[in-house]
Amino acid sequence: MSSFPLTPRNQVHRLPKRASYDRDQIYGILDQTFLCHAGFQVEGQVYVIPTIYGRREDTIYMHGSAASRMLKELAKGFDACVTVTLLDGMVLARSAFHHSVNYRSVVLFGQARALTDPGEKSAALEIITEQVAPGRWAEVRGPNEKELKATSVLAMPIDSASAKVRTGGPIDDEEDYTLPVWAGVVPVRMAAGTPADDGRVLPGVGLPASLSRARFL
Ligand SMILES: Cc1cc2nc3c(=O)[nH]c(=O)nc-3n(C[C@H](O)[C@H](O)[C@H](O)COP(=O)(O)OP(=O)(O)OC[C@H]3O[C@@H](n4cnc5c(N)ncnc54)[C@H](O)[C@@H]3O)c2cc1C
Repeated sequence: MSSFPLTPRNQVHRLPKRASYDRDQIYGILDQTFLCHAGFQVEGQVYVIPTIYGRREDTIYMHGSAASRMLKELAKGFDACVTVTLLDGMVLARSAFHHSVNYRSVVLFGQARALTDPGEKSAALEIITEQVAPGRWAEVRGPNEKELKATSVLAMPIDSASAKVRTGGPIDDEEDYTLPVWAGVVPVRMAAGTPADDGRVLPGVGLPASLSRARFL
């Protein structure tokens, strides 16, 4: 199916012209980054926690300490909500009211389950690692049995999703164009600084090839 069906959960009401339910577009946004926020509810209190994810086909994977409340709660299989945001620009208008941001964002809905099979867990950890820096998994020592036990890994099939995208400059009220105020767009992107080794890298070992493909560059 090329689009996620419209439901009361994923239908964008506010500025629907910015909405998309197209699977390729949504997955394209997901594949640009690796940071998400997972939302869940415990005894009436809503929590929204930032974490890393990886996507493969129609599933996202999240991981963390076996002690993580977020992962324990999400693993109960309740309806969860995960969001991903790419900030593309600050939109500065002539009036405070018309300031905005350019962005591509995604809201995902699904029910997560904990992976228990060590092979499945390891494969999901590879997906998460490769989401951050493609090629890194092959460069490093993989997790051993003890490390796998200490790590919770969740799989959340994407049941429903929406994307929202804003592009372009500020849209001011006509009478405000006579104001002597600068207006326009300041592009924004996540950028990495210069890599600094930890002081214990063996002689002759250079920067990894995966760094050039990392999604944080
Ligand atoms: C970086 C950034 C900054 C923003 N700043 C503001 C702000 O300051 N004030 C403000 O009011 N809004 C802001 N927005 C827009 C905000 O995300 C909501 O879209 C908007 O507030 C409408 O919320 P709602 O609950 O009324 O949406 P509704 O349209 O009622 O939401 C219904 C459904 O639409 C989908 N949906 C809604 N918003 C999004 C989204 N952003 N991305 C993907 N799917 C979505 C979800 O599936 C949701 O369940 C910002 C968005 C981004 C990405």
